[in-house]
Amino acid sequence: MTVESAGRPVQAELAGMPPRLYAASPSRLLAHVDCPRRYRMQYLDRPRPPQRSQRAHTSFGLAVHNALRDWWDLPRERRTADAGRELVRTSWIDVGFRDPEQSARWRRRAQDHVSAYLSGVDADDQPTGIERTVAFVSGTLRVTGRIDRLDDRDGELVVVDYKTSRKPLGTDDARTSLPMALYAAAVWKMFRRPCLRVELHHVPSGEVLTHTHTPESLTRKVDEAKSIARDAQRADADFAERGVESTLFPPVVGPLCTWCDFRAHCPEGQAAGPEKSGWAALEDEGAPRPVEVDRGDARSARSH
Ligand code: SF4
Repeated sequence: MTVESAGRPVQAELAGMPPRLYAASPSRLLAHVDCPRRYRMQYLDRPRPPQRSQRAHTSFGLAVHNALRDWWDLPRERRTADAGRELVRTSWIDVGFRDPEQSARWRRRAQDHVSAYLSGVDADDQPTGIERTVAFVSGTLRVTGRIDRLDDRDGELVVVDYKTSRKPLGTDDARTSLPMALYAAAVWKMFRRPCLRVELHHVPSGEVLTHTHTPESLTRKVDEAKSIARDAQRADADFAERGVESTLFPPVVGPLCTWCDFRAHCPEGQAAGPEKSGWAALEDEGAPRPVEVDRGDARSARSH
């Protein structure tokens, strides 16, 4: 969204016209919740402040996601666990690691994880969608996102999201995930069939966390997204008028500042502590779980 277009919703309201849509990915909505200052730098400032270079755990996550996507493109007879291992090797992203030894060690670990995960997947059970882009409009919000995998299990549509964090998932992660609920709502609208079940597949452990929404719980999640969008849209409009003088983008200083890609441009965040190394999420036992792969945004930059 350009700075100019960001101000139009308010102008339209003032003129008695219906407000314009606010288009956002789940990542964008959550960025506004996490830290409005980071949101401004990532989505509004032009030119966009340079981000720090890609971290090793992002490279690791992208390589795993790529292999799990490309595996389904193989001819049926080649869809084996070993083929998944080979896909990781050939598409490994050697960015952000401390040194070649660390990169090679984590590549082998990714190969093991993918191979073990695929050994439990039925190669005949072709998904309905792989990295499928989905979208829906509700009120003045338009949500667009990309689903790792969409399964049709005996007539039931299931949204699958791969996770690659070193730490295990929490038991409530599938139930509380806003992106997953929005993807399910989008699938329901696009396929004109109920989609209530969401699954997080933690590839390193093979753990699968499942949650089955109700139509009411999905509606609550969509309402939550619309509430975030209203705040973000208001802030966008203020930015269009005042630029960086807008007061609607305060920094939210906390532990994630040590991982933030924009902290070089944020004096408040720099005071939170020293920046984490590019490989800290792989090796630092005391690390909080940082934001994983930025769905949609980061995927577009990955190698194929
Ligand atoms: S360093 Fe912290 S406060 Fe600053 S933009 Fe990043 S997350 Fe926000």
